[in-house]
Amino acid sequence: MPSLCEQRFVTCEIGCVRYSQWDGIMVTFHEFIDPGELPRGFRDHCQLGSSSTHQIPVSGFELANGDYHNLFRNLCEFVCPAFGMVPTVYCKANDAYRNKWCLQWLATKSRIDNRFEIFDVENLIVKLYGHKLGEDPSRASVSRSLGAVYWDYASNTRCKWHEESDIWSCALASCRLIGIT
Ligand SMILES: [Zn+2]
Repeated sequence: MPSLCEQRFVTCEIGCVRYSQWDGIMVTFHEFIDPGELPRGFRDHCQLGSSSTHQIPVSGFELANGDYHNLFRNLCEFVCPAFGMVPTVYCKANDAYRNKWCLQWLATKSRIDNRFEIFDVENLIVKLYGHKLGEDPSRASVSRSLGAVYWDYASNTRCKWHEESDIWSCALASCRLIGIT
């Protein structure tokens, strides 16, 4: 949202994957999130933002989940299946602020403590390369490869709705592409 809007983001879709070095992407989590009431006076802005990216309807979307409590609880269980573990989540450094903001928004709505810690996936990839291949790629080259588009061989990465609507901007696809990279 523009800086003059009090609400920083409008939350509408979440994707998350559980990834193992050996097995790759093992399970995925995906939900459309009911954004609730749009910030007053910013409906057109939201509409425009949606049209130019994910195209998720800004209101009245039948797949949008407004049961925040169960949604967030399911996400917590997905990320952290064993009690007492601190959920460790990675995302691209550029998305970290937005993701943290949206998770906090969801946590507040769900009335569940937000125990998520989010780390930069770029640092993790640099470390994994070091361990596995003895290579030491620069953080910058890792960021570049994460930003590259691998749509050519990245079939079946999107959520069902974005796949059927043939729209590429999809939260689940973003996560899966990090795994593929
Ligand atoms: Zn999607």
